Amino acid sequence: MRIRTLAVGLLVGGLALTACGKEGTPADSGATGTGTAAAALPTYTVDTAAAVTGSPAFDKAKAAGKITIGVKDDQPGLGKKDPTTGKFSGFDVEIAKLVAASLGYGEDKIDFKPVASANREQAIANGDIAYYVGTYTINDKRKAQVSFVGPYFEAGQDLLVRKDDTSITGPETLKGKKVCSATGSTPIQRVRDQKLTEPGNIVEFQGYSQCVDKLISKDVDAVTTDDAILKGFAAQDPDNLKVVGKTFSKEPYGIGLGHDDKALRDKVNGTLQKALDDGTWEKIYAATLGKSGSPATKPTLIKY
Ligand code: GLU
Repeated sequence: MRIRTLAVGLLVGGLALTACGKEGTPADSGATGTGTAAAALPTYTVDTAAAVTGSPAFDKAKAAGKITIGVKDDQPGLGKKDPTTGKFSGFDVEIAKLVAASLGYGEDKIDFKPVASANREQAIANGDIAYYVGTYTINDKRKAQVSFVGPYFEAGQDLLVRKDDTSITGPETLKGKKVCSATGSTPIQRVRDQKLTEPGNIVEFQGYSQCVDKLISKDVDAVTTDDAILKGFAAQDPDNLKVVGKTFSKEPYGIGLGHDDKALRDKVNGTLQKALDDGTWEKIYAATLGKSGSPATKPTLIKY
């Protein structure tokens, strides 16, 4: 609970702290997550003159005077909506804001739209969102329907169990156990493909927070998805939950956007590359996921 309160406080105060430089340690100290000093979120310069010629998503946002971005709303540290303030926070949300700023939209001109794992391709194809930032693994099946910019982060599938559970130590120990994951996700597909547990023992929900509730109530024995997501849940309830810590897949995260929107893809690629080059990526990491103490490896963008 302490961690959660601290995180919210930091996020709310983040912009102010950046502006006045009040905190003790400079945000650009290069720390990738010792969690000791309060790392401030960076601010992003809004490019009011931005133009992305030939991008349907950009044109749509321009006509609306705001940009709609698909995110997750129940993943602490990555994409989480504060039920009291309605504010979104986390690593993915910051990447979403960074990109929005490069397109000409400050935070007051962003509509964050929660979209569950199973509905991402459709939301992008429909044009409901300009782009999506939410633990979205780049893979060939999805690339047939959407395009990606990334990877901007590399995660791996892992397991979340109750703290007192000593029987689940890796994917090979899941037989006979009830395993929960999200509909339409790569982790649930892997549980099925690799027959990690029996089909009748697979429980699925729209989002991982529902799985975590079922883990705590002992209706399931494990939650499986990316380690980055699971660490966020474990940090919220360290007395009851733990991450097994043996990843068994590679989950490179991409920003999803319209399949044929090459203009936007190139623009977003340029924005991310700059953030990786000028230290902004590290600052975002340090102020979000890095607070848990996990070191990050800076990814290398791939041209798709
Ligand atoms: N990264 C995985 C995926 O894209 C799991 C996380 C999620 O469901 O967003 O399916």
